[in-house]
Amino acid sequence: MDALRFLVVILVFEIFEFGFSESDARWRTYINKITEGVQNYQPCEQHNCSCYYRVLENDLLPFRGGVSQALLWDAVNRGVGTHYQVIKNKLYREGNCMFPARCSGVEHFILEVIDRLADTELVINVRDYPQVPRWMKPIQPVFSFSKTSEYQDIMYPAWTFWEGGPAVWPIYPTGLGRWDLMRDDLEKASRNWPWGKKLPKGFFRGSRTSPERDPLILLSREDPDLVDAEYTKNQAWKSEKDTLGRPPAKEVPLVDHCKYKYLFNFRGVAASFRLKHLFLCGSLVFHVGEDWLEFFYPQLKPWVHYIPVKQDLSDLGELLQFVKENDNIAQEIAKRGHQFILDHLRIEDVTCYWERLLTEYSKLLTYQPKKNNNYIQITRKQGKTEL
Ligand code: UDP
Repeated sequence: MDALRFLVVILVFEIFEFGFSESDARWRTYINKITEGVQNYQPCEQHNCSCYYRVLENDLLPFRGGVSQALLWDAVNRGVGTHYQVIKNKLYREGNCMFPARCSGVEHFILEVIDRLADTELVINVRDYPQVPRWMKPIQPVFSFSKTSEYQDIMYPAWTFWEGGPAVWPIYPTGLGRWDLMRDDLEKASRNWPWGKKLPKGFFRGSRTSPERDPLILLSREDPDLVDAEYTKNQAWKSEKDTLGRPPAKEVPLVDHCKYKYLFNFRGVAASFRLKHLFLCGSLVFHVGEDWLEFFYPQLKPWVHYIPVKQDLSDLGELLQFVKENDNIAQEIAKRGHQFILDHLRIEDVTCYWERLLTEYSKLLTYQPKKNNNYIQITRKQGKTEL
């Protein structure tokens, strides 16, 4: 009798002490991470784009001693970016731009704030890859849209917020852009696909810009009920080798991703532009790897806004099982991610970040920049005019 009483006491103690069901106990590690993440999360108070000031402060830290004309010209002469000048509230640029649509996307934002900018000059890298490795001495000021901790580039909001993103035929023939319009479209799509209606399945469509995506494609081939992930063509596609031995899949517009509960983001050549879109579907974002950043990533927190996945995808099976068994928890994370992007990554936040970045950067120049006579003026309405 005593033994029985002892057992009952132990059982009651377990239930009251831990409050866990059997399934909770299995997933306690993940549940704890989420609870801790949410408890420690300091929501960002929005004053314009102040949520992201820390990012630009960190990026500009190596230049606190000042940017001399010689240092700036070292960066210009290395040819890793396009040289821009802001002189008396006008924008000038060297004649060549490797990717004109990308330059246009960048110029759109600078022209939005040009009336409030001090004279300055800068080198903007419109390639995908960052250009200032950590070992470089002295560190050159080069602006890039994405980097890892191995690089010291100064991050700027990518051109694709306006134009010049990847052209994906037939869904984005003129290139992924106009974040303001995309936000509206994705909001509509998220209302058409509320959480309860979404398919409880992982989903990914994209090209093989990095083989780190391969394990997901292979998992989908093995278990298509768990994950629907296929490679599409990109402009570099040559043969089925580029789509992992299968014909390329049909492209799926981002709004149609909203049909699925679990959406995957991977790095490509650098950070992938897709991340911000996925959140707006109101789906749960599985963000693979944590190395590649854009300016807004540091404010998105693992377990609070998204599910972090190891780069080799070794924990993916377990994570998918976890979210399927804990649908309410999954939905809460999805809601927080969705709300963050809705509130803090508006097109005006992007413009605001550009303004703050250029304002703070221009204070670092130790000289008065002078207009280069060979440069072209960039204007908003008439396009580019030779001077
Ligand atoms: N994309 C898409 N549907 C597709 C294929 C691509 O919406 O069927 C989008 C994708 O979300 C990304 C862009 O097109 O924003 C380029 O995708 P890709 O995988 O080619 O390159 P990434 O930039 O992700 O490395």
